[in-house]
Formats: sequence, C-alpha cells, structure tokens
Amino acid sequence: MKFTDEHHALYKTVKEFGEKEIKPFNEEWEKAGIYPAKELFKKMADLNLLGITKNPNYGGMGLDYSYSIVFAEALGHSCNASVVMGIGVQTDMATPAIDRYGSDLIKKEFLAPSISGDYVASVAVSEPNSGSDVASIKTSAKKDGDDYIINGQKMWITNSTQADYFCTLVNTSNDQPHKNKSLIVIPADTPGVSVGEKIDKIGMRSSDTAPVYFDNVRVPQSFRVGEEGSGFTMQMQQFQEERLFIAASTLIATENCITDTIEYCKERKAFGKPLLDNQVIHFKLAEHQTELESLRALVYKACDRFVDGKDVTMLASMAKLKSGRLIREVSDSCLQFWGGMGYTMENPVSQQFRDGRLHSIGGGSDEVMLQIISKYMNTLPKKS
Ligand SMILES: Cc1cc2nc3c(=O)[nH]c(=O)nc-3n(C[C@H](O)[C@H](O)[C@H](O)COP(=O)(O)OP(=O)(O)OC[C@H]3O[C@@H](n4cnc5c(N)ncnc54)[C@H](O)[C@@H]3O)c2cc1C
Repeated sequence: MKFTDEHHALYKTVKEFGEKEIKPFNEEWEKAGIYPAKELFKKMADLNLLGITKNPNYGGMGLDYSYSIVFAEALGHSCNASVVMGIGVQTDMATPAIDRYGSDLIKKEFLAPSISGDYVASVAVSEPNSGSDVASIKTSAKKDGDDYIINGQKMWITNSTQADYFCTLVNTSNDQPHKNKSLIVIPADTPGVSVGEKIDKIGMRSSDTAPVYFDNVRVPQSFRVGEEGSGFTMQMQQFQEERLFIAASTLIATENCITDTIEYCKERKAFGKPLLDNQVIHFKLAEHQTELESLRALVYKACDRFVDGKDVTMLASMAKLKSGRLIREVSDSCLQFWGGMGYTMENPVSQQFRDGRLHSIGGGSDEVMLQIISKYMNTLPKKS
C-alpha cells in the first residue's frame, strides 16, 4: 500500500479522534456495558468518517478501500476494541452491500442517515442454531402483496440495543441454501421487532450485543437489497470488508500490548535488574513485533488486491485468521510479563486479552477461515 498525504491526514484525524473522544471514556463505557453510539457517530460524521468509501451521492467520500484500512488501523489508538467493533459494524459490516447493491430508495432511507450519523446500523446474520454454517439460517421472509412478512430470531447482534435498522439475512424461498437468501433492511421500530437482554460477555464489554426477534414483521419488498435470492453471495462479499476491517483494527491494539509491556518491563525490577533486561523477555517481544509486521504486510497486500478489484477471499481469510491468533498470543504472553498487575481488570493488556479473544470467533471463526483457505488451496476432500 502506498500512503499518500491524504492517507496520513486521515490517519492523524482518526487517531486524534480516538484518543480524545473514545479512550478517556474507556472505563466508564466498559462498566456501563455500552458505548453511546448515537452521540459518537454524530461526532464522527462531522469529520466525514462514516462514509469513507461510500457513494458521494448519499454523503460518502467515494474513496478507495485503502482509506478504510487506514481508518480501521488508526482507530486502534482509541484503545477500546469494543467501540472499534461497533464503529466497524456501522461502516464496514452492515452497509457495504447496501452501498453496492441497494436501490436509490434504500440508500436514501438507510445509507445516507448512516453516513450522517443519524442512524445506527446492525448486521443480523447469526442465529441461535446457525453461526459458522450461515447457509443453515432459518429466519424467513414470505411475500404478502408488496410486503414481506418476516419471522425468526437473530443472535449476537452488535449495536442491536441502539440500532435503527438491521441489515438482515433471511430465506426468501425454499430453493437451495445458497440461492434462497436475500438481504432485507428491517427498521428497528417496525411492529414485531424486539431486542432481547444484553448478553454478559467476558470481553468487548463496551459493546452491546443482544438477540433480535422478528414476529410477523411486515416490511415493504422495496427494502430488499439487490436481487431476491442473491443475499448469500452479497453477504459473503460483505464479509470480505468485515474481515479486512477486523484484521486491520487489531494492528495497533496488538502493537500497544507490546509497547505498553516494554515500558512496564523497563520500570519493573526483579532480581536486581529491569525485567526487560532478561533476554527471554526482550527476545519474545522482538518476535511479537516481527509477527505483527508480517500481519500488517498481509493486510496491506489484501487491501491492494481488493482495491484492484480482485477476489481477496483467501487473503482476507488469512488476515482475519492471523490477526485473531496473533492478538491472543501477544496479549497472553505480554500479560505474563506484568505478573499480578496483568491479572487486574484495568490493565490495558488484560483488556486486549479479553477483547482479543473474540477475534478468533466473531466475523467467522478461525476454523471457518481455515475451511475457506483450504477450499482455495484445493485441499478439501472431494464431495462424493
Ligand atoms: C461479541 C460477539 C459479537 C457478534 N456480533 C455479530 C453481529 O453483529 N452480527 C452477526 O450476525 N453475528 C455476530 N456474532 C456472531 C458470530 O459471527 C458467531 O458467533 C460466529 O460466526 C460463530 O458462530 P457460533 O457462535 O454459532 O459458533 P458455532 O457455529 O456453533 O461453532 C462453534 C465452534 O465450532 C467450530 N466449528 C464449527 N464447524 C466446524 C467444523 N466443520 N470443523 C471444525 N470446527 C468447527 C467453530 O469454529 C467454533 O469454534 C457475534 C458474536 C459475538 C460473540
């Protein structure tokens, strides 16, 4: 990736925003189990940060995806992975398909207010019995006149208690699982939509996650994104942005674990010398930094290909897999060097240890990433 002055300027704006508008509230939001999405998104919209790659006709900046990667990476300076995840849902997980395939009506109704920070978006794919196996979802949308009637339940939905709408994957026919799905935008205030209790999670505590229920929810067919039956393909495409965003968003978080630990180990003494003077410690940190730079190179390579319009499914899956593994490994090993202090809640490394655990599960687990990579390597057993 070649960084222009514009990339650097965006990085600086986002870094400063994260340091001023997110980081100072970390403790408060972690305790509250929620961050104020509406308030925060309005401030971000004032800086044109919610529609970086989106269509300028609806308030976006129309920039290429390299700017989104810079955005995701710089957000790491906010030191709150859960808020970064909530922002990512708004910019890179719930809205790419709407921007790419949505009608003018949908874009005016949902994309424009998401970019202006007036609407909070959620993406609703997972269900209680369908997480890794997306094709097996059961939520259905049946046609009734000009409308769809939607029934079903979604699970683990980020931003859901604050959302104005759900970009929802549903079954619109009994055709084969990859051909029977559509993405439908469901406004949160539609009768029959209800959001359950917030789920009590071990990490990502500033982010609200809850189940969402659809009970005979009537929405116009015009709220469908793109062609009926192409929802699975659109969602798989949308996952590439989601996975690249997640991978890029871990870079600074992982780096912070290393740099915070260096500082601590310079100060903390045991057996008459700073912890950092032990080769076993500084060699380990050097290894982590090396791995981190390899991940950064992989993310940038995937981004370049994406900007060139190439299929990045394999590279995005590799980046997602590696980022989840690396943040877990680095936060665990750094936490060890903080001793008892590492085992406290307010420690920055312990927060990464808890938050980072999600990256091997959410947005497609490590095993799903390995399945995709294997498929692209042609190593999966042949179907008989
Ligand atoms: C905090 C949080 C936020 C989330 N936000 C959202 C959101 O906003 N929107 C949304 O739609 N979803 C969201 N999710 C859901 C997330 O995408 C799923 O949890 C994830 O896809 C895994 O699905 P599952 O939990 O049902 O696990 P399962 O599918 O039940 O899998 C359980 C385990 O088995 C493994 N496994 C499954 N199949 C195989 C196999 N064939 N071989 C080997 N191992 C296998 C999986 O990798 C996983 O480790 C969120 C989840 C969390 C925890």
